[in-house]
Amino acid sequence: MRIRNKLVISYALLSILVFLTTVLILRSSSTVTMVAGAIGVAILVVLLSYWLSNSFTTPLGEMMVMAERMASDDLEHRLPVERNDEIGDLSKSLNNLAVKLKGRIDELRSEKAKADLILDNMAEGILLISSNGEVVLTNPAIERIFNVKSVDIIGYPVIHSIHSFDLDHAIQESIVSGKEVVDEIDLQAPFRQLRIRMMPIINGMGERQTLAVIRDITRPKQVERLRKDFVANISHELKTPLTGLKLLSETLLRSIETDPTSSKVFIKRLDKELSTLIGMVRKLIDLSKIETQQEGAVKEPSDLGELVREVGSSFFQLAANKGLTLSLHIPENLPLISADKDQLLTLIRNLVDNAIRYTPCGGTIDVMLEANDSHINLIVSDNGIGLAKREIPRIFERFYRVDKARSRETGGTGLGLSIVKHIAENHSANVSVDSSLGIGTTFTIDFPTGPESETENQKTS
Ligand code: ADP
Repeated sequence: MRIRNKLVISYALLSILVFLTTVLILRSSSTVTMVAGAIGVAILVVLLSYWLSNSFTTPLGEMMVMAERMASDDLEHRLPVERNDEIGDLSKSLNNLAVKLKGRIDELRSEKAKADLILDNMAEGILLISSNGEVVLTNPAIERIFNVKSVDIIGYPVIHSIHSFDLDHAIQESIVSGKEVVDEIDLQAPFRQLRIRMMPIINGMGERQTLAVIRDITRPKQVERLRKDFVANISHELKTPLTGLKLLSETLLRSIETDPTSSKVFIKRLDKELSTLIGMVRKLIDLSKIETQQEGAVKEPSDLGELVREVGSSFFQLAANKGLTLSLHIPENLPLISADKDQLLTLIRNLVDNAIRYTPCGGTIDVMLEANDSHINLIVSDNGIGLAKREIPRIFERFYRVDKARSRETGGTGLGLSIVKHIAENHSANVSVDSSLGIGTTFTIDFPTGPESETENQKTS
């Protein structure tokens, strides 16, 4: 029943009751009857008023509770809608409002979750800066790049927690000019190179803000530098033997007719230079293969003992020719390791080849395998010329040779040990060197045999 009808009926009932009471009082002769009639009417009026007020205050109270719950983000609560009057309509409208609000808020939440997901997983750092220079929004990449916490950035000027005047300058420039600013800046301690891009934007509320996108380019720059150095080194390294070849061939051309004995010597030297050149190209090919295979190396359970025997057999003759004793020490029942066999053959070959080249006649070279619970050590030891302590950290650098002339004389390229290091890294193996000048050198490659090596296998196969 509508509220208006309810009120009309209530007032009509009240009027009838008042009328009947008045008639009863006027007609009655006894005081008792008069008082009883008046009390009866009063009780009826009170009951009617109670019913009327109750039918309004209870639903209004429920609506108040619902409004309070909505204000505190609880949009699940609903009002009963069994009444067919304006209060029932109002309850329905409030319920509808709660449903629509919930839908809109869920939509906004899902949009925000998507935006957060993108921001959280971006490699680039993002800073949103208000027109007065305070950071409004940031993402985890910023924390990583600058080693700061977002709570220390948001609400403050960038310089408050990121102490880079170059970055601050670029931000101010973009805020003041309202133009895009692109720059590269360096951070010290720890050293980082960053590419920064500041873009003026207008947000949904019409406010001017600056969006800073910051990319850590330390690694790409380093790779670029290494590549440039590598090309420069190769050009330099190739130039020497090529110039030698040119000189020899010119001399040979002049002497071939007149001086056949010297010509023979020149041809021998020509052959040696060519061998060095071929050796270098071979090692460069090895190096590039190892680097390109780094991600896709095919590893399989491998028997290090078998590989050491294979390399040993190809070097016995060379060692004997130089008056050296090459011995292999391979225990029985060695555990298998997960490895790329071709790469391991190259590693062992380079170490044995070095030991032969840097050990004078009469020396000994021992290649040993030692296993424990979780590792196998490959040890290549010689009693050759040895290395000074200060040289040891540098010998794994590309093209580094302790004694250039000696290395070249023995067909060295300065690439052998950098190949060894690369291969060891590909197999999660540790390389260590123990050497003393004039006493000898021991290289130890420590290969993991347990789950560590299997994980590596799964990763790469
Ligand atoms: P290279 O082709 O010149 O031998 P490597 O990268 O194999 O280049 O080795 C780098 C340098 O380390 C060599 O020039 C040499 O001086 C030193 N070296 C390597 N192995 C030995 C060794 N067994 N004994 C002494 N010195 C060595």
